[in-house]
Amino acid sequence: MIPPEVIGNVLDRVSIVEVIGRYTEIKKSGRNYLAVCPFHQEKTPSFSISEEKRLYHCFGCGASGNTLHFLMEYRKLSFMEALQELAKIASIDLSVYSDEKEYGTAGERDILLKINKESMQYFHSQLLESSDAKGARDYLKKRKLTDGMIRDFRIGFGGNGWNNLTVFLKDRGFGDDPILKSGVACQGNEGLFDRFKGRIIFPIFDRDGNTVGFGGRILSEDKSQAKYLNSPENQIFHKGGLLYSLNFAREEIIKKKEALIVEGYMDVIALHQNGIKNAVAPLGTALTINQLDALKRYADSVVFIFDGDEAGINAANRALDIAVESELNQNVVILPGKKDPYDYSMEKGGEAFLKYTADKRLLPVDFKLKYFARKIDILKNKVKFVLSIFPYVKRVKSSIIREENLKKIGEFIGEDYSVILSEYQHYLRNDKSTGFILRDTSLRTPALNSLEAELISMLLIKPEAVQEVGDILKDEMFSDSEARRIFSVIRDQASLNTGGIIASLEKGEIFDRVSEYAQGDLITIPVIIESAYRLKAHYLNREISNLSRLIAKFQGESNFSEVQKYNKMQESLKKESFAVNEKIENCAREKELSD
Ligand SMILES: [Zn+2]
Repeated sequence: MIPPEVIGNVLDRVSIVEVIGRYTEIKKSGRNYLAVCPFHQEKTPSFSISEEKRLYHCFGCGASGNTLHFLMEYRKLSFMEALQELAKIASIDLSVYSDEKEYGTAGERDILLKINKESMQYFHSQLLESSDAKGARDYLKKRKLTDGMIRDFRIGFGGNGWNNLTVFLKDRGFGDDPILKSGVACQGNEGLFDRFKGRIIFPIFDRDGNTVGFGGRILSEDKSQAKYLNSPENQIFHKGGLLYSLNFAREEIIKKKEALIVEGYMDVIALHQNGIKNAVAPLGTALTINQLDALKRYADSVVFIFDGDEAGINAANRALDIAVESELNQNVVILPGKKDPYDYSMEKGGEAFLKYTADKRLLPVDFKLKYFARKIDILKNKVKFVLSIFPYVKRVKSSIIREENLKKIGEFIGEDYSVILSEYQHYLRNDKSTGFILRDTSLRTPALNSLEAELISMLLIKPEAVQEVGDILKDEMFSDSEARRIFSVIRDQASLNTGGIIASLEKGEIFDRVSEYAQGDLITIPVIIESAYRLKAHYLNREISNLSRLIAKFQGESNFSEVQKYNKMQESLKKESFAVNEKIENCAREKELSD
């Protein structure tokens, strides 16, 4: 965890105008700066930046944020990536705060990354230079990979020796233990031996381009060995969260807002070689929801592309069952004639591949209909058919798409929507597992009291008022827990710098107001004081009516001592309320005079 005050420091030290100015033209306008909004199409600038508060707000589309948010939204960086980038500009070292649980001990993680990087370079130079690698080079030539691709993807060869890489790494000062942990070597009876010997090596990079693991394809046709072998899971290599080539594909995915998901490393490389640079693949294992979540930051939609043999079709079906939990738009393409993406793009070229995958894409429900129609005779068994596809429909998150899916099922088997719907409802009643249908109605947390959001936002802009506000309001007068929390943080902190608190705000009502208020100079101490009194009046009214209820209850029970007690309390609150309302009137009068 990075402490909020450190984040505040980072934001403080970096000019937001300079950062945003790298991506869009900015003009000074009064105290603030104006730009054409980079988040929506417009001709006249409505994107305002406050250098002083380090916040931006677009009066056209409502986009708002601080420098971190800008980098996260515009460049699609993660919070940590954005923070690290700004920390570098600010010359603030964040490594002291790195979280052990998340990263492992920083030292060990670094050593594993170094071992992987050295190994990647070793494998790559083996492939290019070693006479042992002739078979590997011939194989890649036969598969028509260009030298450029081999270089870009750092493809390598594992060498033929028993422990050449291990010796190489030891010569560079790495110990047995980290070499073993990195997974490039295994423990044998006579010491460590190379895991990937004799294999073509596909280095696996994280999205920032660090070598985090390897996939190795066997070169010989030796059936006793696995065709593909991956690095084992360790601190830096988590197969379920990584996608092959995401580091190369990221820019293009952001540009197209779409990622192509294929099955194998060779598929990915062939597509990139043919100019299709938004292709990625899971690491030889089944797709996971984490991998889709990783894409969600860059893409709106994904297209699964599989070959048309039995295995490919079943894999597509499984991918959809996983992807249904994701909010990404999804399509499936089954390539013709059992060709995989490698075959198709290499034979027909990138253009033809793009055309085919554009023309032949299926919505998940259309794929499912075809999939089950191959297995179940619809004419004979309509009920079995719909029951096989309902479990999928039930897991679809959007009610609009669920309804659309049910309509499609109806059309497909030639039944009215009303019939399908009642079948579906019947199915839901009989199905015991809780689906999204039931969760749709889950209660939302009540909306933040907007008086409270307003006051807190203003205090974040002008924390100088906190002393006076603290004299007027007590913590318990805030009904919203978040507003209450922020209020006490501003009040109790030693400095009046609220940058850290603003930086740690979740996007929401308070955040949006803060970004907007930061663009003008309408927030003055008297305005804040008036708002504090209004909040107090609101609180008192709430308490007074609560007491009325109590009094009525005790009157009903003829418990007159209690009635008297609460009457007294209510009297004093009413007096207080009267005084507060007078203050509010005074504030209004003063404002009129100053206008
Ligand atoms: Zn905008």
